[in-house]
Amino acid sequence: MKSIKAVANKAAGNKAVVQVISPKAVMSPKAEDPAIASLIRELLVRLGEDAERDGLRRTPERVDKALKFLTSGYRMDIAKIVNGALYDVKYDEMVVVKDIEFFSLCEHHMLPFYGKMHVAYLPESKVIGLSKIPRIVDAFARRLQIQERLTQQVAQTIQEIIKPVGVGVICEARHFCMMMRGVEKQHSGAMTSAMLGAFRDRKETRDEFLALVNHRGNGF
Ligand code: ZN
Repeated sequence: MKSIKAVANKAAGNKAVVQVISPKAVMSPKAEDPAIASLIRELLVRLGEDAERDGLRRTPERVDKALKFLTSGYRMDIAKIVNGALYDVKYDEMVVVKDIEFFSLCEHHMLPFYGKMHVAYLPESKVIGLSKIPRIVDAFARRLQIQERLTQQVAQTIQEIIKPVGVGVICEARHFCMMMRGVEKQHSGAMTSAMLGAFRDRKETRDEFLALVNHRGNGF
């Protein structure tokens, strides 16, 4: 469930100064690779399975399909996602889209991590269509990731596209590589944040964002 809050903010003075990773610089692997299914079949055998038994016979193709979906972010074009949904406004109050669900794969174990992201920005002269923000999150979540980089990439992309006074992103996630193996801590979550521009420089802006994220409105 997403909720959107806008509140008064008097902190429009600071210009954001950030280092930006261009979304275009993202590598894009081949869309189709028929070798993946045979690699998975080989993997099943090496794990001691009978890859020809009924339940597993079509598993390599299913895994191939699933992996391509879960890494489809590599082939997403941020400019196409935004598709001109940028609007000139005289609006200098904080825009917050919170509780954006995401699912990703950790690059260390290729196991899922999932959670919620809260994204806020302080417009300078433009706002973006609100539905675009969850799609930007998906474009970076559907890759092999670490939570820290995912959080940064979402913040920097919003900064680059909207050129706002500042951007704040908070990410809360649970990692299967912690829950199912190793330390086996089922209820521990990890939190990361990225604060750019006014969100980095001004405590009031940051506090306002944190208060909005922690606020649970009626019916949300
Ligand atoms: Zn991991």
